[in-house]
Amino acid sequence: MRRSAALLLGLGVAGACDDPPAGRGAAAAPPEGAAVVAARPRDVIVLTLDTFRADRMGCYGHPGGLTPHLDRIAAEGTRFAHAMAPMPCTAPAHAALFTGLSPRLCGVTSNFLTAPDTLDTLAERLARLGFATGALFNAFDFAAINLVQGFDGFGLDKGRRAERLVPELKRYLQSTRGRRRFTWLHLFIPHGPHDLPPEFAARVTARYDGPLQEDFFSMEKLRTGEVVAPPEFVERYRQRYDAAIAFTDARVGEIRAAFEAERAWDDALLLVVTDHGESLEGRTLGFHAPVLNQETLHAAMLWRGPGVPAGRVKDQLAQPMDAVPTVFELLGEPIPGELEGRSLAELITSDDPDGVDWTRHAIASLPTRFEGKSGEDGEAAAIRSGRFVLLLREGRDRALHDVVADPRQTTDIAADHPDVVRALEAAFEEWVRATREAPTGGVVSPEMAAQLRKLGYQ
Ligand SMILES: [Zn+2]
Repeated sequence: MRRSAALLLGLGVAGACDDPPAGRGAAAAPPEGAAVVAARPRDVIVLTLDTFRADRMGCYGHPGGLTPHLDRIAAEGTRFAHAMAPMPCTAPAHAALFTGLSPRLCGVTSNFLTAPDTLDTLAERLARLGFATGALFNAFDFAAINLVQGFDGFGLDKGRRAERLVPELKRYLQSTRGRRRFTWLHLFIPHGPHDLPPEFAARVTARYDGPLQEDFFSMEKLRTGEVVAPPEFVERYRQRYDAAIAFTDARVGEIRAAFEAERAWDDALLLVVTDHGESLEGRTLGFHAPVLNQETLHAAMLWRGPGVPAGRVKDQLAQPMDAVPTVFELLGEPIPGELEGRSLAELITSDDPDGVDWTRHAIASLPTRFEGKSGEDGEAAAIRSGRFVLLLREGRDRALHDVVADPRQTTDIAADHPDVVRALEAAFEEWVRATREAPTGGVVSPEMAAQLRKLGYQ
């Protein structure tokens, strides 16, 4: 369903003071067929972190102490160590998250394509259960690509520092007191070019005084090989990226405090997920859409809330498409059918890490070539099962990597494991046969296309 745009300020919800619908809430009995869990969440919060490499979080092994607030959420909940983005690209990854369908199936395979009205989103599904639905997103206008279907109110904070997002969240939470809420918050801060406030800019000690800038024009010259980045530039870029990660984590702390002030944190089911990572190496420094490796595909996924055990880490392969069925099962609601994603609820709630039958393949591909840019090196797909990822690239040899032993994917072990290669190829072909590229809702407006170019998308 298409909605007209709302301004960030005045993001209000009709009927904001209504009582919660009868029969819902923490004490509601689970319907038949739903997994029995100890407690039911009241609200749902989804926090999407853009361009945020999983390996920058302390809970995913980073030693730098960049993410105390996210690490706390991980310690209080269940962390998926091996989540995988379906496409290293903002709109497709978010469309997959909110529809339970891969970008190929939901028709959003590029930032320049809008989501079809026919999609049933998490917000539409929760609105039908009586939830107030509100979204606040940062720098990337999800309304322009029709991904605000189902939200009663939504707003865009255009600023790279997301300075208006938390004040607006506080107003939204006040205006919806008493309602069950689904709130989506999106932070774009780690996406270059980085705009750091002084206290975070002060973390950057590397110096570079040459002509390259952290802008699309300069970065594109690096990607095409026209210019080779000096080590000082690379080091400064990485330090600025890490400072942006720390800044993002600070915003997460402010978001948490806003919910806690409204007593709307501990009874909410929280999902924190990154849409994709970022390349910090070589010619693709500062890019993600043309890159199909662990740098961009390893996604962080944290769940927290009633019924979600604390301090657990799951090694099973998860994808953002699993969010919709997982939210529904953890709420005690029937799982929607016809979804590509699978509910993670049994994995989350099970005490036995190996006691759940969970074999699957996870597939990722590059964005659709659009205006000759993203994916310009040809079509490519990555298919993962367990620790192995098979990389299929147009015009190039396939490559197999063990991403647990070799996360930088430096060694091609296809020749050593022909059986794994065959099984992954067969699974990929089966997936291609079983899915079909869905029609899209259309192409974004010229204004949005211009916005996207300003953000560095071509
Ligand atoms: Zn993104």
